Amino acid sequence: MSKHTHAFQAEVQQLLHLVTHALYSNKEIFLRELVSNASDACDKLRFEALADDSKWGEDRELRLRIAFDAEARTITISDNGIGLSEEEAIAHLGTIAKSGTREFMAALDADRKKDASLIGQFGVGFYSGFIVADRITVESRRAGLPAAQGVRWSSAGTGDFEVEAIERAQRGTDVILHLREDAGEFLSRWKLAAIVGKYSDHISLPIQMRKEIWDAEKGAQTVTDEWETVNKAAALWARPKAELGEADYHAFYEQISHDSTPPLAYTHNRVEGRSEYTQLLYIPAKAPFDLWNREKRGGVKLYVKRVFIMDDAEALMPVYLRFVKGVIDSADLPLNVSRELLQESRDVKAIREGSTKRVLSMLESLAHSEDPAERAKYAAFWKDFGAVLKEGLGEDYANQERLAKLLRFASTQAEEGVSLADYVARMKEGQDAIYVLTADSLAAAQGSPQLEVFRKKGIEVLLLTDRVDEWLLSHLHEFDGKPLQSVAKGAVDLGKLADEAEKQQAEAAAEAARPLVEQLKATLAERAKDVRVTTRLVESPACLVSEEGDMSGHLARLLKQAGQ
Ligand code: ADP
Ligand code: MG
Repeated sequence: MSKHTHAFQAEVQQLLHLVTHALYSNKEIFLRELVSNASDACDKLRFEALADDSKWGEDRELRLRIAFDAEARTITISDNGIGLSEEEAIAHLGTIAKSGTREFMAALDADRKKDASLIGQFGVGFYSGFIVADRITVESRRAGLPAAQGVRWSSAGTGDFEVEAIERAQRGTDVILHLREDAGEFLSRWKLAAIVGKYSDHISLPIQMRKEIWDAEKGAQTVTDEWETVNKAAALWARPKAELGEADYHAFYEQISHDSTPPLAYTHNRVEGRSEYTQLLYIPAKAPFDLWNREKRGGVKLYVKRVFIMDDAEALMPVYLRFVKGVIDSADLPLNVSRELLQESRDVKAIREGSTKRVLSMLESLAHSEDPAERAKYAAFWKDFGAVLKEGLGEDYANQERLAKLLRFASTQAEEGVSLADYVARMKEGQDAIYVLTADSLAAAQGSPQLEVFRKKGIEVLLLTDRVDEWLLSHLHEFDGKPLQSVAKGAVDLGKLADEAEKQQAEAAAEAARPLVEQLKATLAERAKDVRVTTRLVESPACLVSEEGDMSGHLARLLKQAGQ
């Protein structure tokens, strides 16, 4: 049988270099990545077998195995999952299909400390084997293919890899790591079991290792032929809450998110009623690098009665909550549910609504907590995710009021953390609008001449400097019955806030300035719609305003930047 040599895709070569050099200080994660792949492969088999029972063949008990050979210096990670055909081995173990890899590599280069938490989020998991191995051999057979159509893939993790056809009696995959000189520490049952415990305890399949017994004659541990399960092998979300502690929830979070920073908050509930499901949802502490990619999902995994169905079930969460991670396990959905079906399913709609409410309650309990430490967590959340949450005001009208209460802004009185409720509580006698100013930056906002009259009268103005704020204002028109009014639009009517003397003064000034105004109008005929005398300025001689209903100057600049 002939061997073929294939070159790695250029990106893979780059990645291999980075992975093996940058992740050197956190070698052990290779096992987490390979175990997670083996577990995915079993999930995929179970899923394909729903449609075609013959995929099971003789062997219906899914499991993962980890073995090592101290003499040969190899570690083998095996699964009886879906396996790989020859074409699949070439495609999946030689290229990186996923987008985001370039960003991953840039992030690795920029900040080496983040390495360990970043790897695996990008579909680069398999290559982490080369941190400890100077050669990896993969032997596999896809479920449903005959024994003669097995495949052996082998590479030293440099420029290329070899592929050849082999006989293989079992379906599934063996990944054989030929350890580097300096990776001998992993040739230990104790060490391997400890890493499994750390990262993979909640993999819902049994992970087995050879049982060792004490041989009194030799005075040493010896390996038997028997396999024993070394992890808990139970889906964490299906276990009773009373049995679980924070450490369990945090470990599970790390396992599903590959984020080693503990989450800000989580919620675990069994929901009964019209639709029956279990939800375990987490709010991460830090934004991922690709938060702004609205196409990217994958936060919430869908299971049906403990069977993994899909990873990026976008129908389960609104887009503006794309940072939420976790698991939904439905008792009602059919096992063969497709993406299309999910979009239309009433059960899924109920799950999405229920999960959205849960996430908002988690945020509310942080934001409105009596405990300053919890409120500080909300402030940290807002810093990273606030701008994403703002998208919700236009996307999720049903929850607009709740979302509005979660908003935080800078204002003329505080540089951050001002809620609309705080603002309303500080409104002046006779003030009937919430005044806002949008600008490119806080400094630009603070220096705006449009604030002069508000400062003089001691009226607070919210300073909005996020890119999405203009958009936010086009969806949020009022709060607590008070309209939001831009100070940069139209003739700001201070209404009852202006006193009689000021009104008379303004009229007199308008009268006196009439010839000047006429002259300016004539000069600026092409460039200004109107020229008028204003009371809004205290120190500056003039300022530009937009007409009520027109886009603001700030929005016009943003659109221009975006090439529109
Ligand atoms: P990811 O797991 O994010 O897809 P990896 O680099 O970890 O990325 O794996 C790349 C691909 O290789 C997987 O998507 C899968 O198609 C294939 N693969 C890896 N390990 C196995 C395995 N044990 N069984 C079957 N396919 C596998
Ligand atoms: Mg993987």
